[in-house]
Amino acid sequence: MAAFGTVFMPQMTLATFEDGQWSDIQTVPSDRLEFHPGAHVLHYSSTCFEGLKAFRHDNGDVCIFRMDANIRRMAQSSRLLSLPPIDEAQLHQMIVDIVTQFKGDVPTPPGSMYIRPTHIGTEAAIGKAAAPSMSSLLYVLLSPVGDYFAGGDVTLRLLLEENGQRCAPHMGMVKSGGNYASALGPISRARESVDADQVLFCPNGDVQETGAANFILIDGDEVITKGLDSSFLHGVTRDSILTLARDLGMTVSERDLTVDELIERAQKPGTEAALSGTAAVLTPVGTLIHNGQEFQVGNGKPGATTLRLREALNNVQWGKAEDAHGWLTRI
Ligand code: PMP
Repeated sequence: MAAFGTVFMPQMTLATFEDGQWSDIQTVPSDRLEFHPGAHVLHYSSTCFEGLKAFRHDNGDVCIFRMDANIRRMAQSSRLLSLPPIDEAQLHQMIVDIVTQFKGDVPTPPGSMYIRPTHIGTEAAIGKAAAPSMSSLLYVLLSPVGDYFAGGDVTLRLLLEENGQRCAPHMGMVKSGGNYASALGPISRARESVDADQVLFCPNGDVQETGAANFILIDGDEVITKGLDSSFLHGVTRDSILTLARDLGMTVSERDLTVDELIERAQKPGTEAALSGTAAVLTPVGTLIHNGQEFQVGNGKPGATTLRLREALNNVQWGKAEDAHGWLTRI
């Protein structure tokens, strides 16, 4: 099967912001864009994006998961990057329109249709190193995907990185391209040096997140993850898993976690760790690597609570459980 995110539906929806207002929504071929080489985005990284999914249910329904949360986050990213303001109702319509057009192509579970709204500053003004782009382009791409970590029983190896950080400290909550580019060096080095799957960024011992997912520790009935601040991306999956954990009667602790506490707790039998994200869903972590030493998390195998929470999430997404929190938008 093609690598995740390399196959695209042939059309996308698009709108442009010029002279203080958004254009009507257009549906256009998805294999090209035209803008000036001096466009603000290409020089000063005025760009943000989102990632969400539509799922096919057994009865043929297609439902988008937590679309409004992703739209809100995109509006917030745009605001924090001084891009033109997103019209949330219009973006909602752009997503619904394009998913409706390709409803028949939405894969069956565990596959899904990955939805990628993208917002870029297009003003041709290379003198604007310290001023916002007055024009922008917003488009919604679709990519049918399978299971991100196909093969079922995987557990990940994470390198704990205390010296570097994923991005500028106050920009973690912004879903912007530059954050991802700046994390690539440490991630490539971790793959080569210790065969790690991902880097868990822990600047000054503060356990934050990996390059594309949030980190969750499970100790008995308690789920522990960093409380929301500007240093990391506020994952929609994180929020969904915490909500489902509370529904199951678990205790949720959103608070700072240090590397020392993580390593101490991880080694207790029964402790579990996982990464949460739209692509990762909830993927178990089996090994932590720190200062050249390897620590097994619990028994190193996918944890029972992790699998239970993942199933609870998938059941809502796949229409096999009640949508008690109103997370689905039926197309
Ligand atoms: N952190 C980062 C850096 C990410 O790229 C993602 C994926 N969007 C996440 C966390 C998880 O966010 P979500 O659950 O909304 O996909």
